[in-house]
Amino acid sequence: MRLVIATHNRKKAGEMVTILSARFPELEIVTLAEYPEAPEPEETGTTYAENAAIKANSAAEVTGEWCVADDAGLEIDAFDGAPGVYSKRFGGEDLPFPEKIALILERLNGVSVDQRGARFNCFVALAKKGHPTELFNATCEGRISETPSGNGGFGYDPIFFLPELDCTMADLTAEQKHRISHRGKVLKQVGDRLGTLLAKGE
Ligand code: IMP
Repeated sequence: MRLVIATHNRKKAGEMVTILSARFPELEIVTLAEYPEAPEPEETGTTYAENAAIKANSAAEVTGEWCVADDAGLEIDAFDGAPGVYSKRFGGEDLPFPEKIALILERLNGVSVDQRGARFNCFVALAKKGHPTELFNATCEGRISETPSGNGGFGYDPIFFLPELDCTMADLTAEQKHRISHRGKVLKQVGDRLGTLLAKGE
């Protein structure tokens, strides 16, 4: 079986390849870099599930292989769950992450620790032509720190504080992040399903 990681986000694709290849060393896992003809579909959905399915189905159409795509977002309680599904576009799609982070910290200025709750929410779609698309979901709870910390991970990781570990997601090694993150948890479920498909020879 060949599995295509259907994301054009290099960091995210790297995390997905690392997590899934650790569990399935026998599987050929490739990214969309192998398919330069694959378009980057517009994320026109209003939910993570819709956007994950759009990305996985688009890749499945082009590649003819099993494809997995994730759509994730940062939900901040003090912003009523925003930026959520629009996390990539927060402050403008082209605004670099350090500035998106600065904008969040500025808007949370003066907000007390107990009001800074947040989570990463992640949906993964698993798709292949001729099969119904399947969806999986997991979250990771934390809060928004007062200052960024760490160089690991990507995106909003430097301000995502994990109270049980007393550090941000970006302070963790990749292995530590995958053990507790939304993406690590949801890919565990996807791995269970892939295990069944492999056993059936699909
Ligand atoms: P999308 O799923 O590609 O639309 O990404 C949504 C946004 O959330 C992107 O801007 C990502 O950088 C951010 N994001 C997704 N997953 C993570 C993560 O694991 N850590 C930090 N930011 C993330």
